[in-house]
Amino acid sequence: MIYFLSEEGAFKEAVSRSSASYLMVNIYGKRVALAWPDEDAPRLTTGASFMTIRRPYVLSSREFKPEDTFVDVGERVRIGPDSLTVAAGPCSVEDEGELLELGSSLKRMGADMLRGGAFKPRTSPYSFMGLGEEGLRALSRARDELGLPVVSEVLDAASLPLYKKIDMVQVGTRNAQNFPLLQALGEFGKPVLLKRGMGNTVEEWLGASEYVLSRGNGSVVLCERGIRAPGSPTRFSLDVGAITKVKRLSHLPVCADPSHSAGESDLVEPLALAGVAAGANMLLVEVHQHPEMALSDGDQQITPEEFSSLVNKARALWDLLNRAGVKERDELESRLRDRVRKHRRDSGRGGTRPPELP
Ligand code: PEP
Ligand code: MN
Repeated sequence: MIYFLSEEGAFKEAVSRSSASYLMVNIYGKRVALAWPDEDAPRLTTGASFMTIRRPYVLSSREFKPEDTFVDVGERVRIGPDSLTVAAGPCSVEDEGELLELGSSLKRMGADMLRGGAFKPRTSPYSFMGLGEEGLRALSRARDELGLPVVSEVLDAASLPLYKKIDMVQVGTRNAQNFPLLQALGEFGKPVLLKRGMGNTVEEWLGASEYVLSRGNGSVVLCERGIRAPGSPTRFSLDVGAITKVKRLSHLPVCADPSHSAGESDLVEPLALAGVAAGANMLLVEVHQHPEMALSDGDQQITPEEFSSLVNKARALWDLLNRAGVKERDELESRLRDRVRKHRRDSGRGGTRPPELP
């Protein structure tokens, strides 16, 4: 359990007289204090306002911040509830010229951001591991020439200084619980695209985001990229329920990655649409001019033409689901659900009729 208090003076005085651990964090325009463990909590309340939260995450929860968070990337992209952000590009950056050519087509087709791996985590050490620094340089040149913000995966904290000209730093599924890396990203301060570990629960995923937030960096986008599911016919199973669920638990924007979950190009578009239907605020899609020649993830990369169809349908679906009338109905339904829950709690889960909404 963690105690959260908001009156620093009284809190600091109380904490200095106890053995509690504590952290002061500046986040979302607030200065907050976190203290743990719970045995110390009663001595720390000091009459100040406080909350107790019994889960591995506090700052990423809706209890702490009920309203949706917007994550700004570069000067023009704002990821959040008001739009669908689409990031697209190759699995790995393979050549600067090709990246520029692809990026310019993707921009024309409606991509908001360019993705590309420079340092690649591969299952086998004998596979292509990316162009490294040269790949990052190609991305930052593409960003300057095309005016598209770029996102690229980082493998370790020691490489972070190389990412100064990268707009958003991706944490891959294999590093999703690399806690020192997540803390370093908290201090680095750039927006983070945090993939869910392929075997992680939603609670563990939010616990991972907390490592970034608790270092004062609130710009985190959660990315569902599919989990291991025995018997699933896809490479990883896109957990669409988790997209909806994590948005209820957390104020952070959510991205769906249909490429790594699909594992084959034919399934990428339907999974992208499923992600949007589940409430994703962003899509991360792998696109290659010649997927059959790609140096990594060739089976799942789609062509620019296929991307054009995907992005048009995804935006049409997003518009349909987020039209003002639909949003109002969703809000009404969510208020009704809250009332029913409260009614059940108050009446000891009795079977009487729930209250009507006015
Ligand atoms: C990627 O985006 O290219 C990647 C390696 O993703 P993941 O970590 O989801 O496998
Ligand atoms: Mn990939």
